[in-house]
Amino acid sequence: MTTTLTIAIDGPAGSGKSSVSKEAARRLGYGYLDTGAAYRALAWHVLDRGADTADETAVLDAAADFPYAISLDPDDYWVRVADTDVTEAIREPRVSAAVSGVARVAAVRERVNNLFRTLVRESGRPGVVVEGRDITTVVAPDAPVRILLTAAPEVRAARRSAELTGQDAAAVATALHRRDAADSQVVDFLTAADGVSVVDSTDLDFAQTVEAVLQLAAAVTAPTTQENHDGR
Ligand code: C5P
Repeated sequence: MTTTLTIAIDGPAGSGKSSVSKEAARRLGYGYLDTGAAYRALAWHVLDRGADTADETAVLDAAADFPYAISLDPDDYWVRVADTDVTEAIREPRVSAAVSGVARVAAVRERVNNLFRTLVRESGRPGVVVEGRDITTVVAPDAPVRILLTAAPEVRAARRSAELTGQDAAAVATALHRRDAADSQVVDFLTAADGVSVVDSTDLDFAQTVEAVLQLAAAVTAPTTQENHDGR
């Protein structure tokens, strides 16, 4: 049985994790798995049922009936709950504000973690770049490449604000820091676990950050030099 090579990337909101992971996957011919989308889609599903993500029972009820699907193709990214395409809707501020409520429910985490491992195993690709908050520590602690992507808080807030044009920059920064504070009570994504490489993108542009990730991945993704040996 062939194994799928996992590149695990963790980091806080606005670290550039999603766009960098997606581009790294493209360049490697790998799949791309956005794990935050599962938590966001479940938060969307809870809100769609008229419930509140602060209510753990409502979260568990929604999780028990959660027909979730996600694409691992970096060039054709979509997220669905049953027949509804929620790719855009799960980025709305109301979902971002509610998502930490579902992420703190241990039974939810266990269930989505199993789903992530299955998606990687059945991806049909040589490898998958998996990004989130606890990939290097919980979902894939044995991944051959594990990276923590960080950036200074003010840089992260500025990047997120540039993405969410039309929204007040100060409000975006406040929401981002509030979400980080809530999330960091559940998983520690601000310090690198043993063996995890840190890429600090504070002073790097997008291309440089992708390059830093690809360099770390090169040790395990480089083509073998077998044919050179054979040719001699
Ligand atoms: O990565 P993104 O910001 O889209 O993640 C949305 C939310 O999902 C996070 O704020 C966090 O609450 C949760 N999350 C998590 N563990 C992951 C990925 C995301 O708890 N591996």
